[in-house]
Amino acid sequence: MFSDSFGRPMRDLRISVTDRCNFRCPYCMPKEVFGPHFTFLHREDLLSFEELARLARIFVRHGVEKVRLTGGEPLLRRDLERLVAQLAAIEGLDDIALTTNGSLLTREKARALKDAGLRRITISLDSLDDAVFRATNDVDFPVARVLEAIDAAADAGLAPVKIDAVVKRGMNDASVIDLARHFRGTGHIVRFIEYMDVGNTNRWRVEDVVSGREILEMLSREWPLVPADPNYFGEVAERWLYADGAGEVGIITSVTQPFCGSCTRARLSASGEMYLCLFAASGYDLRKLLRSGASDEEISDVIATLWRTRDDRYSELRSEESAATPKVEMSHIGG
Ligand code: SAM
Repeated sequence: MFSDSFGRPMRDLRISVTDRCNFRCPYCMPKEVFGPHFTFLHREDLLSFEELARLARIFVRHGVEKVRLTGGEPLLRRDLERLVAQLAAIEGLDDIALTTNGSLLTREKARALKDAGLRRITISLDSLDDAVFRATNDVDFPVARVLEAIDAAADAGLAPVKIDAVVKRGMNDASVIDLARHFRGTGHIVRFIEYMDVGNTNRWRVEDVVSGREILEMLSREWPLVPADPNYFGEVAERWLYADGAGEVGIITSVTQPFCGSCTRARLSASGEMYLCLFAASGYDLRKLLRSGASDEEISDVIATLWRTRDDRYSELRSEESAATPKVEMSHIGG
């Protein structure tokens, strides 16, 4: 077990299984950039499930307890449940989670993922207003299908479902109360995320960020809220409980109240680069090592060295200037 240069242990691994997505949310994969001519990774560039499971096993030996599968849209990767089953077989890995836009989450898929060992699911949903939602996904995908996916996940035993909504000024700030109201009392947990300057293609401007404070004020005007303690060290969402017992709501304030000090997350891109920060410019190519016949010990040493020297704390240093520095796209390393 070891820590990085700020004393942060490695506890979580986020694995992006594909850089492709079937949505084109302008804050993440704007159509003008990720259009028909954009070159995505080729099949042979992607780590196979066996390669991913091998790396995950090594990360677990270094202290990782949780793996989250993400992307791109992870359910675009065929038979994802096969990967979940391989991860579930790793001793010491207690928690396997998935972040998805829900568009491909049928009842059968939810059940197959659960049976394979998936523990938790987060479904992204920015608005309940069909017109607003179709505009935020920018592929005209209807909100009703995501609501069906949320039910499918819950019925498969993946409840409580977390529902993540990025809030961008002028895009969906008017949807905050509706979302909270719809899921109050259902046991599901809506979490509102501040719009972040990830990547370099979304034309992020600080004026478009709706701060966690503003979101909290909007919610508190409707329902009294009481703060709740974090469930574990490094939890990214600030937790609030409805005072009337109708459940929980979360706020993720990565811009206005960064939480780099407790960031225990390592990230693996779909092509096998290890990233030490969501806002990093580049990652370390573990795929090359894997495919050049390196032993588990050699790969393990590289991962340990990278983590020990980690000194990233981008969000704590963020400025208008840093927002323009080169950064990897979120669709490449996952949210
Ligand atoms: N496709 C999956 C999904 O939609 O959940 C997984 C990948 S997506 C990159 C993961 C999460 O990142 C989504 O909830 C998405 O809304 C969020 N996200 C993307 N760009 C963001 C941004 N600029 N600021 C805040 N959150 C963002």
